[in-house]
Amino acid sequence: MEAHLAQCPACRAEVARQRDALYGLAQALPAADPPPGTWERIEARRAPGAGPATPSVGRPPWWGLGLAAGVALLLAGGVASGWLFSPARTAQTDVQRWTAQGAAQRPLISRSGAAVGTLLVRPDGQALLVLGRPAPGGQVYQAWGRRASGPRAGVPVSLGLTAGATLRVTWTGYDSVGVSLEPAGGSPAPTRPLGRADVRG
Ligand SMILES: [Zn+2]
Repeated sequence: MEAHLAQCPACRAEVARQRDALYGLAQALPAADPPPGTWERIEARRAPGAGPATPSVGRPPWWGLGLAAGVALLLAGGVASGWLFSPARTAQTDVQRWTAQGAAQRPLISRSGAAVGTLLVRPDGQALLVLGRPAPGGQVYQAWGRRASGPRAGVPVSLGLTAGATLRVTWTGYDSVGVSLEPAGGSPAPTRPLGRADVRG
């Protein structure tokens, strides 16, 4: 960063502006004296032989860059580590939003009885499949709707597919919604069922 600043007048001007704004904040505060003996107590707590204390000890290297630049660095760190756009964080935000919109949470249950994800069911006929992670290894999640009765009872009808960790579907006309793992592009019928949830009652 310092190497860039040395040859970039625009960024130097921005840093100077931020530094002025930051120091201006401190200077705008009313002056106040510390309680008597403060500095002596700080000195006494330092390890013996460490030399005389000065107020500049402990300044981090990014100090002079200013608050906004520090925030930008933190933000860049978040993007670099993947946290800001991670599937888990996106799914969490989706669950909060759908729950606030009145969606009921139904666990997606596998044949062996394990919960493999969550189905958020909205009364307007929309539902959101929330799996723990994106589909592995170039495969996709495919959603299926089934009726409980009638001539087409139990026949899976594809509701859509995704390589991601969430999938929005329309459940109107079906009694349950299931999800399976399929090759890229999907399948005409589920080949690796993961779990399903009832959408009524
Ligand atoms: Zn620059």
